[in-house]
Amino acid sequence: MELVSLSCNQCGAPLRVPGAARFVTCNHCGAQLQVQRGDSAAWTEVVERLQEGQESVDRRLAAIEVENEIARLDRAWDREREGYQVTTKHGGRQDPSATASIVGFVAVTIVGLIMVGGIGTAGGGPIMFVPFVIIGAAGIAMLNSISKAKQMADGKQRYQRKRRDLLRKLEDLRGASE
Ligand SMILES: [Zn+2]
Repeated sequence: MELVSLSCNQCGAPLRVPGAARFVTCNHCGAQLQVQRGDSAAWTEVVERLQEGQESVDRRLAAIEVENEIARLDRAWDREREGYQVTTKHGGRQDPSATASIVGFVAVTIVGLIMVGGIGTAGGGPIMFVPFVIIGAAGIAMLNSISKAKQMADGKQRYQRKRRDLLRKLEDLRGASE
């Protein structure tokens, strides 16, 4: 069998190792060694230290995975948020606002009541129902906006909580590898 001359990575003692061996115990200091092979050279590494290196690689990979998870969460929230947004008159997207919808409803109601007064002064008639339909439609739009604003606030809270948890996880992974 071909024997390779190596030295112990812990104590430096010379070792004669079978060419195919992956693990060897140093007969001088007793260290557990793994045989590493490069293109043109072979050397030994203490197994314990190797495991530490592997652990830090694992932690780095886990940290990258958490980073990816955060990016996915951000994208998912962008899509979710678009679902709550309302289209403005100019075609842009806007977050739903309970306050703005209430102000809008009050304005429409005032105009509607002025219309009712005007129609009444002019003698009334079946056209009287029109302002009430307009006020009713504005009321439904307001309730819809308030509901969307509430859903969006809840969704945002869920998103921010998940993001905080992931950031904490990432800090733990990075802190442990330093
Ligand atoms: Zn040794």
